[in-house]
Amino acid sequence: MTDQTIKTFESLRQDLINRDRRFTEKAGKLCFEGVELESLAKKYPTPVYIYSENEILRNIGEIAEAFKNHLNTKIFYASKACSVMGILRVIKEAGIGIETNSYYEVKKALEIGFPGEDIVFNGVVKKAEELEYAIAHDLYLINVDSLFELDMIDEISRRLKKVANVSVRVEPNVPSATHPGLVTAFHAKSGIDLEQAEGAVRRILDMPYVHVRGLHMHVGDQVPESEPFGKATAVLVNESRRLEKLFGIKFDMINVGGGIPVPYKYDDENGDPLHDNMYAGIDSKKFADAIVNEVHKWREDVCICIEPGRKVPSSAAVMLTTVACEKTKTNYDLDGNVECHVDWKFCDAGYNVMADAQHYGWFFYIYNASRIAEPHDHYIKLAGPLCDGGDYYHQGVKGEEYLLPATTAVNDVLVFLDAGAYSIESQTVYNNRPRTAVVLIDKDGNDRLIRREDTYADILSYDIY
Ligand SMILES: *Cc1c(COP(=O)(O)O)cnc(C)c1O
Repeated sequence: MTDQTIKTFESLRQDLINRDRRFTEKAGKLCFEGVELESLAKKYPTPVYIYSENEILRNIGEIAEAFKNHLNTKIFYASKACSVMGILRVIKEAGIGIETNSYYEVKKALEIGFPGEDIVFNGVVKKAEELEYAIAHDLYLINVDSLFELDMIDEISRRLKKVANVSVRVEPNVPSATHPGLVTAFHAKSGIDLEQAEGAVRRILDMPYVHVRGLHMHVGDQVPESEPFGKATAVLVNESRRLEKLFGIKFDMINVGGGIPVPYKYDDENGDPLHDNMYAGIDSKKFADAIVNEVHKWREDVCICIEPGRKVPSSAAVMLTTVACEKTKTNYDLDGNVECHVDWKFCDAGYNVMADAQHYGWFFYIYNASRIAEPHDHYIKLAGPLCDGGDYYHQGVKGEEYLLPATTAVNDVLVFLDAGAYSIESQTVYNNRPRTAVVLIDKDGNDRLIRREDTYADILSYDIY
């Protein structure tokens, strides 16, 4: 075992079973929150996502704890990260609020029991009927994304004779070192120019039913450093202070959005933590400190609103998939010489149920849950079942290769770690393969189905013929 990649991965495997708060080993099998994963994969159809209630609560607790220097902090979970109702119930019971991005997200939030005062409504496109619904339900906040939207809110609130609480989403012009598709505060489609904030607030002050609570921003998703949060907060703080003075008003809050990063890679030998945002770079505390520090230069009594999405469910779920087929193939060069042999393993999870792994090139640690005690020292390539040459996992521990035990066989259960955010939400039925079931391991360690797998009838049910 001179291969450094194997050494590193082996030490990660040891940490996983000995030091990770979520995992243990029992008789060679990997357990998640004390529940053996292989048996869950036999009890429920794979691929399947398994969420841990305890881990969700620990993650929320960590975020709350990070802001303990600013007690007037409101946490709104960004439900687009995972809006399975059973998960929303856990979040509701944890006592935080919710951030929504569409009519149906607002509806789901209300349905699970969030009161309007715990709901924030975001989005670049909010249609009249969506705004009317939001205003009618007395949401805590509608984050106004355009002047066009502001006029609609004015019109609707007058017609309903109901107060619409809003914040103005501005673009602080701060780039961040995340995936280009995830930057939202620089050359982005969201929000209005900072220079337009004054005009927007002036107009709002003339609107009889619109109440402006403050300014809003969202720096980006999976931002691996605290500097952009500090810088962007400073921009928002300075503008808030200036507008308060100019108009002789006092804002209720400052809404700094989400973006707390999640570690998908834990070791630093596998990449460059400074330039690879699969490392978290910062934790909730550093995120909080960067923000609170800037806000306190302005006011200590103002409410800080945050909208963490990914951080809440990401580490709280694993995806289980069964090895369904295997083959060895040979790569030849153009002259017909053998370059190498590739040991292909096929699992039953394609990018239809694991979109991030393949489309965004997202990284996930993958282990053999059926043989967790065996050395993971054998290189393989891992593919999904879809009829598409691109349906294989690209971000291995070494190039496109993954490490599994040499004994890995058909029917073994593989586990993808940190799979809880933005995964269920982006599943498709491509190739007419069902979207997965979702299981929750509750606080008492009992597993239960919180979403069933699509059936053939489900898939047909949209078609009219
Ligand atoms: C997506 C989004 C969030 C959540 O982002 P995370 O990176 O998942 O924390 C919060 N606020 C707004 C406005 C968003 O668009």
